[in-house]
Amino acid sequence: RARHEHSRHVRYEKGQDEQHQRRLALARDLGAAVEQDQLTMVYQPKIMAGSGAVMGFEALMRWHHPDFGFVPPDEFIALAEQSGRMALLTHWMLRTVCRQIDLWAQQGEVVSVAVNLSAHDVMDVTLPERIHLLLQDYQLGPERLRLEVTESALIRDPALAQGNLIALRNAGLHIAVDDYGTGYSSLSQLKRLPVQELKIDKSFVMKLDHDSEDRIIVRSTIELAHSLGLSVVAEGVETEASKRLLVTMGCDVLQGYLISRPLPADQVIDWIGQYRE
Ligand code: C2E
Ligand code: CA
Ligand code: CA
Ligand code: CA
Repeated sequence: RARHEHSRHVRYEKGQDEQHQRRLALARDLGAAVEQDQLTMVYQPKIMAGSGAVMGFEALMRWHHPDFGFVPPDEFIALAEQSGRMALLTHWMLRTVCRQIDLWAQQGEVVSVAVNLSAHDVMDVTLPERIHLLLQDYQLGPERLRLEVTESALIRDPALAQGNLIALRNAGLHIAVDDYGTGYSSLSQLKRLPVQELKIDKSFVMKLDHDSEDRIIVRSTIELAHSLGLSVVAEGVETEASKRLLVTMGCDVLQGYLISRPLPADQVIDWIGQYRE
């Protein structure tokens, strides 16, 4: 408790300058983070809303900085994008995830994993080939690796993103629009991109059980997405009440703390076993 109060106190006193110093230091240390094994991936389960079956996992990056401790991905991913280091992180992430999928298969669990791509990644013309080579290296079918791209990344340069996504789609990868509802795109804009899935942002899902406006937004998003042939994932499912509502609304896939927090790789097989019991 004392420690918690102390860290809060420190946060209040932190000035602009200290924030700036932190950002500079973190951006500087991103390269070392990859080289010195400070990054890890954690994996959060997704389940089918109807049957409850495990549908797959989302891979999320973690950074344990030697001085700053845990750095939230929202913070360091943005810094990586700004400082031109995103490709380095994504490259490491894709290889780590593919290797992990292969390791689980050797232990008898065939799973598919969704990875997050940043705005920089979707506009990188070498991405489709890099992913192709990785899948080949680990002998994974394209259905084993799924892609999540934020709405805002997709509409930054739709023409460039589209070329890449079509190549990946043609190679058999499944693509989801992430953080749906937080950007300003329309479904008709997104429909022109080769995406199959829409992930409703947790900001709409978390208050579902006591916010009637969020219920209206989520219900109509699910209906519209379905009528366009897209499947719908809800992230941020934290309560049984929200889960029941989403099932009733016809949501296809659920993800959130109610089902499980993101797990270290070495807990995934045990989690699947216990969940199935
Ligand atoms: P995201 O892709 O929207 O991921 C969902 C975030 O919601 C994750 O936060 C996850 O831990 C959290 N979450 C899941 N279920 C719940 C819940 O029930 N309640 C609440 N309150 N939160 C929940 P996380 O891991 O901190 O990641 C934040 C963001 O950082 C991600 O948002 C994604 O945009 C980005 N990110 C994480 N890993 C990567 C990566 O490898 N590459 C890229 N480009 N971005 C990443
Ligand atoms: Ca995501
Ligand atoms: Ca989100
Ligand atoms: Ca996000």
